[in-house]
Amino acid sequence: MDTLIWLLVLAGAPIALAYRRTDLKSATLILGLVLFIYSWLGDGGFLWTTFLWVLFAGLVALNLIDFRRRSVSLPLLGVFRRMLPTMSKTEQDALEAGNVWWEGELFSGMPHWQKLLRLPPPRLSDDEQAFLGGPVEELCRMLDDWQITHELADMPAEVWDYLKKKRFFAMIIPKEYGGLGFSPLACSMVLTKVSSRNATASSTIGVPNSLGPAELLLHYGTEDQKQRWLPGLASGDEVPCFALTSPRAGSDATAIVDTGVVCRGTFEDKDVVGIRLNWEKRYITLAPIATVLGLAFKLSDPEHLIGDRDEYGITAALVPTTLPGIEIGRRHFPINIPFQNGPTRGKDVFIPVEYIIGGPKMAGEGWRMLVQQLAVGRGIVLPSNALGGALASVYAAGAYARIRRQFGLPIGKFHGVGEALARMAGYVYTMTAASRVTCTALSTGERPAVPSAILKYHNTEMARVVANDAMDVHGGKAIMLGPKNYLARNYESVPIAITVEGANILTRNLIIFGQGAIRCHPFVRAEMDAARDTDAARGLARFDELLFKHVGYALSNAARSLVLALTLARFTDVPAGGRTRRFYQQINRFSASFALAADAAMLTLGGELKRKELLSARLGDVLSYLYLASMVLKHYRDQGEPEDDFPLVEWSCRTLLYKTQEQLHGLLRNFPNRIVGGLLRFAVFPRGRTFSAPSDELGQRLVELVINPTPTRGRLADCAYTTLDPGNPLGQLQQALEMAEQVKPLERRVFDAKRAGEIESEDTPGQIDEAERKGLITREEAAAIRAFDARVMELTGVDDFDPRELAREPPGGAVKSRASRGKKKTGRADTAGDAGDGAA
Ligand SMILES: Cc1cc2nc3c(=O)[nH]c(=O)nc-3n(C[C@H](O)[C@H](O)[C@H](O)COP(=O)(O)OP(=O)(O)OC[C@H]3O[C@@H](n4cnc5c(N)ncnc54)[C@H](O)[C@@H]3O)c2cc1C
Repeated sequence: MDTLIWLLVLAGAPIALAYRRTDLKSATLILGLVLFIYSWLGDGGFLWTTFLWVLFAGLVALNLIDFRRRSVSLPLLGVFRRMLPTMSKTEQDALEAGNVWWEGELFSGMPHWQKLLRLPPPRLSDDEQAFLGGPVEELCRMLDDWQITHELADMPAEVWDYLKKKRFFAMIIPKEYGGLGFSPLACSMVLTKVSSRNATASSTIGVPNSLGPAELLLHYGTEDQKQRWLPGLASGDEVPCFALTSPRAGSDATAIVDTGVVCRGTFEDKDVVGIRLNWEKRYITLAPIATVLGLAFKLSDPEHLIGDRDEYGITAALVPTTLPGIEIGRRHFPINIPFQNGPTRGKDVFIPVEYIIGGPKMAGEGWRMLVQQLAVGRGIVLPSNALGGALASVYAAGAYARIRRQFGLPIGKFHGVGEALARMAGYVYTMTAASRVTCTALSTGERPAVPSAILKYHNTEMARVVANDAMDVHGGKAIMLGPKNYLARNYESVPIAITVEGANILTRNLIIFGQGAIRCHPFVRAEMDAARDTDAARGLARFDELLFKHVGYALSNAARSLVLALTLARFTDVPAGGRTRRFYQQINRFSASFALAADAAMLTLGGELKRKELLSARLGDVLSYLYLASMVLKHYRDQGEPEDDFPLVEWSCRTLLYKTQEQLHGLLRNFPNRIVGGLLRFAVFPRGRTFSAPSDELGQRLVELVINPTPTRGRLADCAYTTLDPGNPLGQLQQALEMAEQVKPLERRVFDAKRAGEIESEDTPGQIDEAERKGLITREEAAAIRAFDARVMELTGVDDFDPRELAREPPGGAVKSRASRGKKKTGRADTAGDAGDGAA
């Protein structure tokens, strides 16, 4: 018995010290004391006790800094240098963009929750609130999806005018330049609401308010440039676009072949030092109507007119689209969402060097500028647009599932349909939480690059699932295009947000963990800097200090992961009580396991991890799910923890933490080094996979929250356009849902009478008539059920067309037969095709 107790003490002491992250000196002292007491009172034999003292001597040696540096850190520094991933200047720029916020805590394995909880709840200024309740509502009322997407393939002139007049394109431009000067939170909420109404409008508004001329000018422009451009951009007299993507360079944007050569030339009748530009760009949003082009190109200066370098690399300049040599105006047709998007080409276009954003001193700084701004912007526009579409989908699908009956029941009562509805509600809650909390952090001055990428990826991916689910719940109603179809355009628009600003496969596999690993890790970045230090002695001293902290950190994460997994995290301290407490605790547990696994992956794979995309993607997923789950908890707190909403919180956290567990499991199964994989498995899953996904019963509780007119349903959609106006399907569906609630007891009476054989008619109108005739319901009651039934038929109805209405005549000719269409090349071919003529 004594032996067992001593073994527990000897094993438990180092684990407890590691768990608490005790520093090396204190740990050595405490372990020395334990060993001394054991040698004195314990029952270990001579050999065993000697062995323990030898181990302890090793520990003491690690405290002797000179010895440690020479015999341990120096050889390891050599190994570390060989393992270092090669990093281009552009990758370094990406790594330096933004700062580290709450995600750094999750990465540490021991999150300090106060860092997140001290963030104030989201708050809009009075101006921002008034804008949401005024111009945004009015804009939503003006938007007619069918007219825009089918009839005009554009927004009507009055909408364009309204957008400019109310300065929708100038939300990020400060008031001093004529803009609205809104916070990231306000921009996000405006875009969410507009997007819940119409994807064309939200995409159009999104671009000038994200990465583009205004944003770049604000951060890097000279005062002259700001004065020249910002007032016009704010008033809408100037329409901006930003052109980076080329036919040959999409995701790998640094591979652009568009050029700018510094030379002398004549500009506005003056001889100036300028840049001769040649470019071919595609997919550029707002390009067809742009008056100013933010252009990215590679700059060279063979005559050394602006400095002593030949090549400067990617540079960004503002190019007025009226200059000779520019081809612009043609449109792409982005998946039936006809926002303005198209190609542009430039041949020997000449601009003064002062047109470089920030002036000639910013030559070659284009890529750094872009990634720095994207580091933040990526978290606002696309995630908010995705959220708006998803909000509209769940709000519509919940009501539809209640008013649409099959087999005598609202379809929402069928568990299969309920599964989709629950998923939609849970995802929308998660997306809202992520957007709201992250944008609040951005509004307080945080610039976290990794969460922006997490939001971009996960909000748009969840929107994809929600859009699919909404289509399934609506059945044929969602498939038949026409003015009555309020879902299909959102469904079509989903791939846009998925592709833009870092297509999602790349974002998941390369950006989230790729940046996160080095950005958020408490030591790796500093170790890399130390290893690259040209002063060898200073580099070694720094590396040694970091290395030993790093080792302590890794041991601590191993101990924490093991202890938290064994105890199911029941005893870890978190700043929350009640029903959310366990989720905080589970996040602590998985954070430790994640930190351990991330370290092990980096240690064993080094630079190779960059190429092992599936491992890096899984690590990115784990970090993302932990981040999203903590956003859910913070959002719930910010909302005052309404009791009714708890099922949404539970479903979201359970889903996210279950996925965390599964991705960790997938990572360990595929870990290339089997021994390390096995050890990790012991530290991460000593009791196997213990966390469960949400139960079916919990899912059903979510369904009831969205198919009934509950306060939770209202809160869930508080940022969507749900106003009751004749053109707004969301308002109409909500009204029908409320009517369904009112007529429910009356319908029940008719239904019971039918079952009892008192009513013979088979169809609904006949049954209402018969029930009224037989005095089972009063005249007023019959009128109420009839009105509801008429509403249901209207809202579940679809459009049909005269065949001639559907055929669209091409300009200047009748519709061709399929055979003749095949022979004739219509319009301009894909710009890549045009560019790639050599290969063809
Ligand atoms: C509607 C729309 C609007 C746009 N607006 C603009 C704009 O205003 N300005 C502008 O400059 N550009 C714009 N773009 C371009 C957009 O940023 C690019 O489409 C995007 O960068 C992807 O490039 P690509 O389409 O050529 O895909 P590709 O680069 O060919 O990629 C194809 C697939 O491969 C994946 N992939 C590529 N490399 C990797 C890797 N290393 N690891 C894993 N996966 C990888 C991608 O994720 C993607 O799934 C727009 C695009 C669209 C569709």
